[in-house]
Amino acid sequence: MAVAMKGGAREGGCTCGEVRYRLASEPMFVHCCHCLNCQRQTGSAFVVNLLIEADRVEVVSGEPEPVDAPRDDGSRQRIFRCPTCQVAVFSEYGAPQVLFVRAGTLDEPRGITPDVHIFTKSKVDWVTLPESAPAFEIYYDSSALWPPASLERLDAVRPRAARA
Ligand SMILES: [Zn+2]
Ligand SMILES: [Zn+2]
Repeated sequence: MAVAMKGGAREGGCTCGEVRYRLASEPMFVHCCHCLNCQRQTGSAFVVNLLIEADRVEVVSGEPEPVDAPRDDGSRQRIFRCPTCQVAVFSEYGAPQVLFVRAGTLDEPRGITPDVHIFTKSKVDWVTLPESAPAFEIYYDSSALWPPASLERLDAVRPRAARA
């Protein structure tokens, strides 16, 4: 049973309208990533990702197409794009149980505030981070930062013993 949300489910999609999705609950956590991979992939200064269980991302229309993009560390990141307009709507980082939904594809991106800023070592100088969210030069310890309810959700789809 999904957690009920104030103001209804979050929805989003690509720019041509073929791919539409709905989130069955609030995300577990929200990353603002300033790494070079995210900068290159988005052509921007950072990406905002909603971390949510893959089975809580309901694709309402269209079939997001997986594209495996190389990353600087030699790994590959699976990015799901609209097959027609090629806008990236979400991606996977190693584990298919958790999707990273790109906040800019939501119908109301302003409704999302990052819980953490990561890879600030490559943050562009003209972006000033708020005092209200923790920031890390590289990555962080999710078990120390995530709310207990979110950690429980993560454990349910991706048991801790299996995590890197
Ligand atoms: Zn499209
Ligand atoms: Zn990144």
